[in-house]
Amino acid sequence: MLTPRALALVALLAAAPLAAQSPRVAAMEASARAIDSARIRADVTFLASDPNGGRSTLDAGYDSAAAFVAARLRALGIAPAGDSGGYFQHYTVISSRLDTARAGGQVAGGRALRYGEDFVVQSFLQPGRHAGPVVYVSHGIRAPGAGIDPYRGLEIRGAWLLVDGGTGLPPGTTREDLGRPGVDWFTVSDEAKRLGALGILTLPSEGMLRGWNSFRNRVPVGRDLTPAVGRAYAAYPLPRVTLSAGTAAALAAGTPLATALADTTAPSPSPFALDRELTIDLVAETTTYRPYNVVGLVEGSDPARAGEWISVASHLDGAVGRAVTPEGDSIYNAADDNASGSAVDLSVAEALMRGPRPARSVLLIWDSGEEIGLWGSRHLAYNASERIVAHFNNDMLGRTRAPGTEIEAEADLAGPMEVWVSGPSVLSTVMERALERVRREHDWVTLTPKHDAPGVSFFYPRTDAAPFMEMGIPVIQFFTGLHADYHRQGDESTKLDIPKMTGAARMIYAILWHLAEDPERPRWDRPVPAELPFVVPKR
Ligand SMILES: [Zn+2]
Repeated sequence: MLTPRALALVALLAAAPLAAQSPRVAAMEASARAIDSARIRADVTFLASDPNGGRSTLDAGYDSAAAFVAARLRALGIAPAGDSGGYFQHYTVISSRLDTARAGGQVAGGRALRYGEDFVVQSFLQPGRHAGPVVYVSHGIRAPGAGIDPYRGLEIRGAWLLVDGGTGLPPGTTREDLGRPGVDWFTVSDEAKRLGALGILTLPSEGMLRGWNSFRNRVPVGRDLTPAVGRAYAAYPLPRVTLSAGTAAALAAGTPLATALADTTAPSPSPFALDRELTIDLVAETTTYRPYNVVGLVEGSDPARAGEWISVASHLDGAVGRAVTPEGDSIYNAADDNASGSAVDLSVAEALMRGPRPARSVLLIWDSGEEIGLWGSRHLAYNASERIVAHFNNDMLGRTRAPGTEIEAEADLAGPMEVWVSGPSVLSTVMERALERVRREHDWVTLTPKHDAPGVSFFYPRTDAAPFMEMGIPVIQFFTGLHADYHRQGDESTKLDIPKMTGAARMIYAILWHLAEDPERPRWDRPVPAELPFVVPKR
């Protein structure tokens, strides 16, 4: 137990930070308190309004929302950080639609292959001729800890991988037996990419043959950011082709695989090179798009630290946009996902310009293409993140679980005045310090650590923070959870919890400000989780 004297000393020490509160901090807090719920309501209502049509990345509704954000940045005096002195930062997306009437192929020395009869394409990205030798790799799973490696001793680079259809698992195993995907075991898709294979040929399973007609009538479209930088949600780069039973038999004739194909009860042979070539011609019609992010820069006040940027991002695009439905309302307003984060970030931008300018610079990002493949953030993180030392991701901040609700879809939704936070405790001491300070000093909302562990999809790879993490940049993410209206027509602005969004904006601004002021540069100083073996933290 403490003596009265020691107690008095403890009380004095506890009071010290308040007594020592600098006028700058006081001014920042005044700016945080001035964040106005009426402004947030007006912004989110406009962004999620019907005339904006759900803000699909390639739609005019996105252009309207982006023009609104850019006009606000201009009015606030925030410097443009996009292309040629503007607020818009463009990137390229190429979309290829397979011409199934002209796509074809050949087994070397054998007959020509016709699309739909002899093979179908499950997915592809690059049109053109794909020709190379064929290597049979059984189930195609590699699980180093279990001693499973069907690629051992085979020349894979530039070859087609021929893989069994069906479960895709080694006989007698389950996914659970194998452990964590991407950590303990790897799929044929992972391995084909890693080893530089040409593509994947799948032997038809019974289910595949039953559904053959629906597959042959589908027109595959390959579409991605170009160049296709990044990992999370990048389109799979190699062609994935399913062979008909006849093509599989012709390809395997005279090899150890022929017996197994003729008799489904016979065991699969060991992996081997087939010693024959296969050509697939993916004739396609391509279209080029130029979507864009909206970006502005608040220059830091300390010349020594202004070159270290902290980025704050929310995706401005919606998942669906417009859709024809029997029910009438054909607009998916995407209010919570993510007009909510976009409106909160507009208020954070305002607070930054109203309060004392922090030492480090802040890059404000409203990005596009998140819902399609993290396009905008992959482009930015891989091409323009050199100066970024820490990243904020605000995605879905507007919904609250009704107290005592029995709605099952709301079980995974934050409670009243509660927002979930993840990132710093796993990644960065300096970021955690800023978060903990604001948590201790303010109760504008309660920040609950949820999804705050590697291996949880909302930690990585399901959000716009993923490409920044891949670049070794520590991140902090704010989120209020999923609900029944997620990616549906009912995601409307009237259902948002505006007081909570206001509290979230105040907390986010204060954490950002303290981080931008910290004498120590933010960095990813904690161990890289096993789930992210490809990350090299920025030093
Ligand atoms: Zn979202």
